[in-house]
Amino acid sequence: MTDPGTTTPAHTHEGADGSHTHGDADASQAPTAPARPKLAVWKFASCDGCQLSLLNCEDELLSIAGAVHIAYFPEATRAVVEGPYELSLVEGSITTPEDVKRIHEIRAQSGTLVTIGACATAGGIQALRNWADVDEYRSIVYAHPEYLSTLDTSTGIASHVDVDYELRGCPVDKSQLVEVLAAFLGGRKPRIPTYSVCVECKLKGNVCVPIASGQPCLGPVTQAGCGALCPSYGRGCYGCFGPQDSTNTDSLTHQLRKLGMRWDDIVRVYRTFNAGAPEFEAASNKVAAGGAS
Ligand code: SF4
Ligand code: SF4
Repeated sequence: MTDPGTTTPAHTHEGADGSHTHGDADASQAPTAPARPKLAVWKFASCDGCQLSLLNCEDELLSIAGAVHIAYFPEATRAVVEGPYELSLVEGSITTPEDVKRIHEIRAQSGTLVTIGACATAGGIQALRNWADVDEYRSIVYAHPEYLSTLDTSTGIASHVDVDYELRGCPVDKSQLVEVLAAFLGGRKPRIPTYSVCVECKLKGNVCVPIASGQPCLGPVTQAGCGALCPSYGRGCYGCFGPQDSTNTDSLTHQLRKLGMRWDDIVRVYRTFNAGAPEFEAASNKVAAGGAS
C-alpha cells in the first residue's frame, strides 16, 4: 500500500459558483464564497459500488457538496467542469491499453489522487485473470473476441501512476471515505486504522468465529474498516479490506489447515476481492506451490 501521506488540497481560487477570484481582490468588496477545491470521481473496471458509497453518504453529502466543487462525477451528474482537479477519487482497476493511457492523463491533471476500493488498490476480483489464460477466456465468453482489446492482467492504480492515498474495502466504508475527504480539506493525514479485523471483533465483544464454530476467517490478516461486519453475524471474514500492515499469512494458513480446509480451498480464500494485493497474492502462490507449512 502506498504510504499514507497528507492529503493537502492544492489552493484554488475558484468561487462556489465556479467563477475565478483573484488573490489581490479589494478587501472592501463583498466577501466572496470560500474557495472550494475541485473534486473529480473516475471509474475504471469496477462495479460502481465504491462510487455509490460516496452517494450513500446521505447526511454528509450536502456538507461534502458545500466543501468541494463536484466537477466531474458521471455517476451523479452529467455536468462536467474541466480540470485540473485538486482531488481525484479513482475507482476500478486497469484492464485495457486505453485504461493505461487514461490513468496517466488523470494523474497529470490531479493534485491529489486517492484510490477507492479493492479494484483500484489491488485489481479487484477481476485480478483472478492474472492466474488465467485471458485469450482462452475471451474465446469462450465472446462470439468475436477479435474485437476486444484487453490486457492479460487486472492491476491496481498504483501499478501505473503515483497514488497519494489508497482507501481499502469492497466497497469502501463511507465513514472512512468521509474521513479521507475531511483530511484532504484539513491538509492532514487521514486517520484510518491499519490494525486487523480481529481488533474490531474484540472491541465489539464478538465471540471469535473460528474458535467458536470452526469456520475459516481472514480477520487476523485483514485490515479493519468494516466494523467486523461478517463476524458480528457469525460468519468468517472474507478479507474485503485487504491485508493489514503486519500480516502473518503463514500462521493463518496453518490455522486454516487445522480447521480442516483443503489446500485448494485455502488458495481460494486468499484469491477473492484482494487477490492481487501483494501479501495475499504471495500467500496464495505459496500454498498453490505446496510451499506452505
Ligand atoms: S472494490 Fe468492490 S464495491 Fe468497489 S468497485 Fe470494486 S467490486 Fe465494486
Ligand atoms: S471472528 Fe475472525 S476477525 Fe473476529 S476475532 Fe475471530 S479470527 Fe478475528
